[in-house]
Amino acid sequence: MVKRFKIMPHTVESFPVDTETVVRVLKRHEPWYRRNRSGDLRYFAVCPKCENPIQLVNVTGQMNPDGPQYGKHESKGIDGFEFFDGDLLRTCPFVTKNANPQKTDRHPLSETSRRIIRIAVENFDHIVRILRKEFGFNFKALASNMLDDWFSARAYNYNGANLENIPWMIAYFSRSTNLYGQFLTDDRLIGAIRSKVPHVANRADGQLLSCPGNGRMDLRFSTLHHRIIPLKGEDVEERLTFIQRAVKPRPSGRGYKARFSI
Ligand SMILES: [Zn+2]
Repeated sequence: MVKRFKIMPHTVESFPVDTETVVRVLKRHEPWYRRNRSGDLRYFAVCPKCENPIQLVNVTGQMNPDGPQYGKHESKGIDGFEFFDGDLLRTCPFVTKNANPQKTDRHPLSETSRRIIRIAVENFDHIVRILRKEFGFNFKALASNMLDDWFSARAYNYNGANLENIPWMIAYFSRSTNLYGQFLTDDRLIGAIRSKVPHVANRADGQLLSCPGNGRMDLRFSTLHHRIIPLKGEDVEERLTFIQRAVKPRPSGRGYKARFSI
């Protein structure tokens, strides 16, 4: 059940599926407001994750005030929406629901793979800004290596890749990386590191440094467990787990863990 919609493929902004928003954003214009296969006037838009066309249910016509408002994927392309990809439809999290792809699962290079690559390259600065906000450090000198890892793994063909999760998938496919020298902004992450590594120095500007005599710190982070979780009412949530663990100057046991919703 798709709870948000985009106006067209290749756009970034998405909107909640509710009558007021749908009428304000899509107005009563074609190709969004049109007759469906049953001849009823309905709104259409695109899924934010796979960009295939969706029909918006219970936002116009005879509405059920107690029923959910949501987007339903069309099984084939429709006039006015130039994009339809059956492979991506089958792997869209809203369609697969609880089918969790293995990290090694790949499909052949497709038009969608090419679009994912284009978005990753052309919007890389924006992707890094999202990662900074989500992960709580600045990815100093790391981001381009992560993009290289993502290309090496052909992660644009990963079965769990979609047009909405590109920043998180770049983190997911990067190797375990040292946080030493990074500028930290997340208080929970800073507190967790300080509790495990007492001699760590976190400067006023946020940079994580080792104290003299500590040797070079090795505070690794990894991003694991991309999961598609079914929620109530046929909604789904994509999740990813961030783990930070001190390897040097001494192993810190379980380390710090945070879970992201994509
Ligand atoms: Zn979709």
